Amino acid sequence: MGDVWVYIEHKDGVASPLSFELLGIGKKLAQERGGKVCALIIGENVDPLAKEAFSYGAEKVYVVSNPLLKSFRSDLFTKSACELISKYGPDIVLFRSTTQGTDLSSGVAGKLQVGLCADAINVYHDGNVLKMVRSAFGGRFNVTVANERVTPKLVTVRPKAFEMPEKKDGQEGEIIKESVSIGESDALIKILDFVKSAVTVNLVEADIIVSGGRGVGKPEGFNLLKEFADLIGGAVGASRAAVDSGWIPYEHQVGQTGKTVKPKLYIACGISGAIQHLAGMRTSDCIVAINKDPDAPIFKIATFGIVGDLYQVIPKLIEKFKAKLGR
Ligand SMILES: Cc1cc2nc3c(=O)[nH]c(=O)nc-3n(C[C@H](O)[C@H](O)[C@H](O)COP(=O)(O)OP(=O)(O)OC[C@H]3O[C@@H](n4cnc5c(N)ncnc54)[C@H](O)[C@@H]3O)c2cc1C
Repeated sequence: MGDVWVYIEHKDGVASPLSFELLGIGKKLAQERGGKVCALIIGENVDPLAKEAFSYGAEKVYVVSNPLLKSFRSDLFTKSACELISKYGPDIVLFRSTTQGTDLSSGVAGKLQVGLCADAINVYHDGNVLKMVRSAFGGRFNVTVANERVTPKLVTVRPKAFEMPEKKDGQEGEIIKESVSIGESDALIKILDFVKSAVTVNLVEADIIVSGGRGVGKPEGFNLLKEFADLIGGAVGASRAAVDSGWIPYEHQVGQTGKTVKPKLYIACGISGAIQHLAGMRTSDCIVAINKDPDAPIFKIATFGIVGDLYQVIPKLIEKFKAKLGR
């Protein structure tokens, strides 16, 4: 009773960075209800991930290992997760609101016929009621969703909404290995080949993002942003206007129909601050806006604002950072 499960994401047996971040809040929620925080790992040859999960605080790890589960396939992973959830009856199951977490959690919710609170930024118990806070109307409001009765309570949590738990090597726990009744015929998807995207950008996990909008004016402008981002250890983001103009691929888009990010530093260059863009980045810890127009709405949410032409401001920043970093 009261157990909280955290779904651990990985790619072919290698945990993605921050996969274990929900074990911290999972532990707190479990302790409040007298339960344990448990990791759910589905894949092939994923035993090493159990060890990692223990080091981030998991008390119990459920492992499903099967060659059919080598790569993420929604239908097979959903069936496996549902079998285990139905058998062990956790109170809460937490997923990250990443592509994989969103896909799997919605499949589980559909199959188990329970509700799902998506993209929560806070999760807490209020007495016996689980409350989940998520943003609504493009980030203008926060709404609180209450789940009083239905179990399991499924929640996807926005990456970085909670601190990563401290890693302590050598921690042990209980491993429960389970087999599931899946066959290739359960899969609607067959993976014939995996073509790696030429774009290697991990905006969701980035601590620093240098983002460009229509104000960048041309595709080559993103080379300048990339030079700046590389110098300060950041990733390059973009507004939809820049993506729609074909200056940068969609993988870089931040916002309502792009990625939701929460870096420590978000530098918005030539971005006006439309509500749909803000929806994806307004919870960044520190926002620096560079814009020619002193009345641009982005300045209303910016921590620091620089009124000026990005083609003058960014080269100066590059120069200053190079001097400071000794490069
Ligand atoms: C359903 C829907 C979903 C959407 N989803 C998204 C989304 O996910 N992400 C997103 O970003 N948008 C999204 N949009 C689009 C959004 O409404 C805006 O159109 C878009 O964000 C505007 O992008 P921008 O700020 O780059 O461009 P603009 O609004 O045109 O702003 C450009 C800014 O650059 C400044 N500027 C110009 N030249 C310079 C210069 N040389 N130096 C400095 N500043 C300069 C200008 O002053 C201006 O403020 C969505 C819209 C809809 C309807």
